Amino acid sequence: MSVFSNPSYDGHERVLFGCDAETGLKAIIAIHNTALGPAVGGCRMWPYENDAAALDDALRLARGMTYKSALAGLPFGGGKAVIIGDSRTQKTPDLMRAMGRLVDDLGGRYIVAEDVGTTVADMDIIATMTEHVTGTSNAGGNPSPYTAYGVFQGIRAAVEYKLRRNADLDGIDVAIQGLGQVGYDLARRLHGAGARLHVADINTEALERAADEFGATIVDTHDIHAIDVDVFAPCALGGAINDQTIRDINATIVAGSANNQLSERYHGAELADRGILYAPDYVINAGGVIELAYSPDFGREHDEDAIRAHIDGLYDTLMEIFERAEKLSAATNEIANKMAEERFMAA
Ligand code: NAD
Repeated sequence: MSVFSNPSYDGHERVLFGCDAETGLKAIIAIHNTALGPAVGGCRMWPYENDAAALDDALRLARGMTYKSALAGLPFGGGKAVIIGDSRTQKTPDLMRAMGRLVDDLGGRYIVAEDVGTTVADMDIIATMTEHVTGTSNAGGNPSPYTAYGVFQGIRAAVEYKLRRNADLDGIDVAIQGLGQVGYDLARRLHGAGARLHVADINTEALERAADEFGATIVDTHDIHAIDVDVFAPCALGGAINDQTIRDINATIVAGSANNQLSERYHGAELADRGILYAPDYVINAGGVIELAYSPDFGREHDEDAIRAHIDGLYDTLMEIFERAEKLSAATNEIANKMAEERFMAA
């Protein structure tokens, strides 16, 4: 397993490998860039196939956080932690405390929050070991509803830009891949706005609930990316757009919450070539980290109006990306990268 020659390594400032024999903790913390502030990013717990896959995920997610915070106008750098293991069977309070000690070793260069496989309660446990944690029950809590709100606003922007519909979602068909914390909340918002929903998940209970509550059509997980809809919203794990799936995409817009939706950077150009508008993942899914910024952990109060207004700004950021991409005949992910780099490299 290589680090410096790993294709996902991008000059990351620090990569910390942590192991605690007593609790079974095996974790990696990647800090990509701290030019704009301390690296803020979630801690993911996932049963990775091998250590290389865990490292790859940590490196890519950390880099994504640098870009996300820069474009969201936040005073944060980018970092991410991964714990190798199954959160349903291997997560214990002692393991989370060991994770807290590992975070503390970085002396505030990295501030941990929840992510897939970890919860607000886990952040509360980590907070007994380090002050470098946010998203605890005392400070903001679960960011997912804010992420969903941002994705909803982003879908409105994409629909207005691509379908020339004045951001009106009535009668729009949306395929949601993944009805977890963000996907389900997004489904509720879209349903409220009159969208027709098509949903896939490996969790049948969530599917049945969405069918009952929103009249959503249940689609096989292998087909959800390929159905003929206006918007495909990847809200499960990364890599929804890859060499295999990209040729099957029938949607006009790809806009969802998942991090690292493009398996490779060139998939952005391929989507553009096919006339599919892609809302770059780290722009549209920044609502959660924006909410985290409005917390006493960062010297601010949790102010709902200010948070909503900040998240509403994602609509304008996406519009600017779409316009610049069209003008320069470039892919939206490349334009977003350039805009983010202008911000954190200038710092
Ligand atoms: P979650 O774990 O609550 O939801 C993920 C859902 O995807 C689950 O319901 C799971 O069963 C489903 N799923 C897994 N494999 C699937 C498959 N092959 N096909 C269809 N569904 C599948 O996670 P979440 O918090 O809702 O986050 C969803 C995505 O959004 C993740 O990629 C996460 O990194 C990203 N994201 C989340 C936030 C946040 O605030 N929670 C912020 C930014 C980005």
